[in-house]
Amino acid sequence: MKVFKFGGTSVGSIENIANVKNIINDGQKKIVVLSAMSGTTNQLVDIANNIKENALNQAVDKVNKLHDVYFETIDKLIVNGALNADVKTYVSGVFNLLLESTYKPFSEVLENNIVAQGELLSTFMVNAYLNQEGIRSALLPALNFMRIDKAKEPDMAYIKANFKKVFDAANESEIYITQGFICLDDNDDVSNLQRGGSDYTATIIGAAIKAEEVQIWTDIDGMHNNDPRHVENTKPISNLSFDEAAELAYFGAKILHPQTVTPVREDCIPVRLKNTMDPEAYGTLISDETSENGVKAIAAKDAITAIKIKSGRMLQAHGFLRKVFEIFEVYETSIDMITTSEVAVSLTIDDDKNLDKILAELETFSSVEVDKNQSIVCLVGHSIVNHQETYKLFQILQDVKIRMISYGGSRNNISLLINSKDKINTLQKLNDYLFELVTL
Ligand code: ADP
Ligand code: ASP
Ligand code: MG
Repeated sequence: MKVFKFGGTSVGSIENIANVKNIINDGQKKIVVLSAMSGTTNQLVDIANNIKENALNQAVDKVNKLHDVYFETIDKLIVNGALNADVKTYVSGVFNLLLESTYKPFSEVLENNIVAQGELLSTFMVNAYLNQEGIRSALLPALNFMRIDKAKEPDMAYIKANFKKVFDAANESEIYITQGFICLDDNDDVSNLQRGGSDYTATIIGAAIKAEEVQIWTDIDGMHNNDPRHVENTKPISNLSFDEAAELAYFGAKILHPQTVTPVREDCIPVRLKNTMDPEAYGTLISDETSENGVKAIAAKDAITAIKIKSGRMLQAHGFLRKVFEIFEVYETSIDMITTSEVAVSLTIDDDKNLDKILAELETFSSVEVDKNQSIVCLVGHSIVNHQETYKLFQILQDVKIRMISYGGSRNNISLLINSKDKINTLQKLNDYLFELVTL
């Protein structure tokens, strides 16, 4: 069986939901993972923030506006009287819950419950729409099988066992619809797989059922060789290896959640990226096939903090790096890039929630400099560190101030740390010289 995932834009309008119907209605039984309609999760995050800041009138106002948008959409999408009433009953329940949330004290669990409603709404509506269109479809409630453990990793044994139970209990159907993004945590409270997490849901389910293939349907024709939001003339990449796709997703290609590839790479389950608005376009196939050497794509990750840790005692002091790493471990902050010299170590983090505490501890044995608003620009391709053209990189970027460089950590990745204000210029320049073959 295949797993299909449709993102926010794909379920964000009546026309696109009709496209989704045509794509999935091919006579083959499948699992369909849906995101919230585009914009909804952002609205829900804002509502939760308003509650946190005690701006309750604003929260209520947003809930009411969203309610009206949903009711208008339902009237256009679900024209069958009985189904329309059924969907409105469910959706009213969701909006009552959101209004009640504005009276409750703020907590992370409250926030997660609010943010989870987007996927619950979209799946209920699309399931009813498919039934209206004569397609046999059933809902598989993600909160009955999707769970993360204490380390926030998918609890695969639990997910496998419970997915099977939920699937076996569902009505025999052609399409089995489930919510992306949402899950339970190790306390059985509602949680989520972080923003963009529906991609991750799809590959977790793909791994749990050993799917034939996972298809991620979005609003663009596959992974492009550079960020199309910032760079002109980007092009889709037909084939990527799991390693290449994992690097690109982790280092900022927004089209994929950073962990998307992790669950499926061991079993080599192929992942296909496709465009809901242009289903004929080839898209991108992520598989275990490696391709020719050379830079294939560039991605960038923003909001990076660089930390330089200097210590006279570092000179030949074994155990110094262990001491540094332990501090980051205690504060559950992962390090992305690292470079060392005889007197200093520079590293980067993207989660600065515990930065103050980390700095306080580092300052007990070293002097520390912090630079915020940095971006990691990541070049990815099979064996690029060995490629004969790679030396050109330094020529191309001679005017860009590079703060750190990571070369050889993996053969498939070269990462540069630059100031975020130089990012667009850097991406465009790399694009022109590496892919458009502009001569130096
Ligand atoms: P969905 O809601 O379907 O999950 P996303 O907005 O999360 O869609 O991801 C698709 C978007 O990712 C595209 O519209 C595009 O603007 C952006 N994007 C960023 N980098 C890339 C890239 N390298 N290739 C393709 N799309 C990218
Ligand atoms: N709806 C969630 C988000 O906007 C998950 C997703 O779209 O993948 O982040
Ligand atoms: Mg996404």
